[in-house]
Amino acid sequence: MNQNSPTLQVTDWLSRFDQALQNSDAEAAAHMFDEDSYWRDLVSFTWNIKTLEGPDQIKSMLQSTLSDVKPSSWEIEGEANSADGVTDAWITFETAQSHGKGHLRLKGDKCWTLLTTMTGLKGFEECKGDTRPKGVEHGAFKHRSSWLEQKTKEEAELGYSKQPYALIIGGGQGGIALGARLKQLNVPTIIVERNERPGDSWRKRYKSLCLHDPVWYDHLPYLPFPDHWPIFSPKDKIGDWLEMYTRIMELNYWGSSECQNARYDETKGEWVVTVKRGNEEIVLRPKQLILATGMSGKANIPNFPGAEKFKGDQHHSSKHPGPDQYIGKKAVVIGSNNSAHDICAALWETGADVTMVQRSSTHIARSDTLMDLALGDLYSEKAIKNGIDHHTADLIFASVPYKILHEFQIPVYQKMAEVDADFYSALEDAGFMLDWGDDGSGLFMKYLRRGSGYYIDVGACQLIIDGSVKLRSGVEIKEIKENAVVLSDGSELEADVIVYATGYGSMNGWAADLISKEVADKVGKCWGLGSDTTKDPGPWEGEQRNMWKPTHQQALWFHGGNLHQSRHYSQFLSLQIKARMENIPTPVYGMGPVHHLS
Ligand SMILES: Cc1cc2nc3c(=O)[nH]c(=O)nc-3n(C[C@H](O)[C@H](O)[C@H](O)COP(=O)(O)OP(=O)(O)OC[C@H]3O[C@@H](n4cnc5c(N)ncnc54)[C@H](O)[C@@H]3O)c2cc1C
Repeated sequence: MNQNSPTLQVTDWLSRFDQALQNSDAEAAAHMFDEDSYWRDLVSFTWNIKTLEGPDQIKSMLQSTLSDVKPSSWEIEGEANSADGVTDAWITFETAQSHGKGHLRLKGDKCWTLLTTMTGLKGFEECKGDTRPKGVEHGAFKHRSSWLEQKTKEEAELGYSKQPYALIIGGGQGGIALGARLKQLNVPTIIVERNERPGDSWRKRYKSLCLHDPVWYDHLPYLPFPDHWPIFSPKDKIGDWLEMYTRIMELNYWGSSECQNARYDETKGEWVVTVKRGNEEIVLRPKQLILATGMSGKANIPNFPGAEKFKGDQHHSSKHPGPDQYIGKKAVVIGSNNSAHDICAALWETGADVTMVQRSSTHIARSDTLMDLALGDLYSEKAIKNGIDHHTADLIFASVPYKILHEFQIPVYQKMAEVDADFYSALEDAGFMLDWGDDGSGLFMKYLRRGSGYYIDVGACQLIIDGSVKLRSGVEIKEIKENAVVLSDGSELEADVIVYATGYGSMNGWAADLISKEVADKVGKCWGLGSDTTKDPGPWEGEQRNMWKPTHQQALWFHGGNLHQSRHYSQFLSLQIKARMENIPTPVYGMGPVHHLS
């Protein structure tokens, strides 16, 4: 091997790093990081989801954690690569309690970015591959019970004569993905879901909805979509997939079951949760409670003066039944993000007279361009041909610290503006107010920071450009009359139906509803990075608030987000829960203060 080869550079760095850690020399280890450096840890060192920024933060973290974590066995996996002055490599390591995989970027002989992720707990590894269960006990046994009998027994007992260790409230994709991970870790878990069937949270959305993210981004844990699966899943199809998945993964899924309230019993160290299952009221006593009730679940419904007088139909976009009953009717859709565009297009296709009301600017990315420029390198057939499957892609994505992610994103959106320049100027000519995020970093950063403010264009923009869907932009709603919406400029829009496509509130609102306002405030706002951009107030947090990691309420967790996040972060949340079940010490490093309540 060449003395200066990237692989040698990495193995040399790893061996010096290992030595410093073995010597418990946090100072020396931190000194191996560039002044502008980032260590993103997904549970391995911090039992938290945490990014340390710069040598000082890294040193403090190591000083607090090294004696428990006892990291060792740092090794390169495969060969390192080098480009544009950066050498990068996949790495593996061990801690006292866990196995880990990570990613390293070096600039010269200093680390620029380090990702460490927990892949499994020692002694509690998932049984797969070589260790997969046999499924049968060969031989002859009196009174043998079959797989089905055992499963039926477990289902009958759990929640009644046996308590689940973990209770997941909400059986959408988030609850289901986490349930599947916990199942493989042998954590007795129940998922309670208000709807009748898994997948109903998608089925009940507006008729025309298809996923805006492509298939490569959307796989659930363990069971990827088959190669024939369409790129953009229609909502009912994804609903069926979730239902099938729940069954095949043998999840204890209680449909038609609503969590009514929950309180934490400090003395017993368990939750007391009232669930209405059909007509039966059941009190469950799990040790861990996970709210997977949806980050797009708690509807923001504006309170416009006069709304109670409106004679037509009015509903939030989450309750929009679809366009069929509005043929020939006048529809006003308030809002200009994803749901608003999708609903406007479907209403227009059915023959309604549609007006969109845009209060503030929206980021628009055309689907094809987005797939090509923003997602294509990681999640696409091209990526797979280049050896990047979704597991690898998830880790590459995770390896870029949030503090600098916008710097990687800005050029992508500059290119998008260039490629689709005619399209954007036509939209602006139609009066549409456009933005690219406060710093020009586009869709993903808006999603991570505020979870709103964009539309992935799959056709509705052309309707606005050519005037088929009418647009009123830069106006507020002043009041609602019996048959019209009055705008802040005094003009009126006649309406038979008003759709409030006005987004969703923070997930800690669910904690207020189900637990108490006190607990919701103790935990604080969910989602957002503290980027000090619109709807994501500072100070800087470095990671998404409260998601998939310990909160200020003991044994309360939040899980949710898009399919990619449900897949990726369920791994880390499930390991945190399993560790607690097995009484493995989990000293949490770096719990920040709460700065915002909602
Ligand atoms: C219009 C729209 C389009 C979207 N498009 C995409 C996309 O293309 N790709 C993507 O990945 N994401 C998309 N998302 C975002 C997000 O992925 C989805 O909202 C997804 O459904 C989130 O999954 P979840 O499990 O976190 O929440 P949900 O699917 O909302 O599931 C939460 C569940 O909790 C249940 N629940 C709530 N309260 C209780 C209670 N008290 N007791 C029992 N059950 C309860 C609800 O019934 C619901 O089924 C979209 C969202 C919307 C609104």
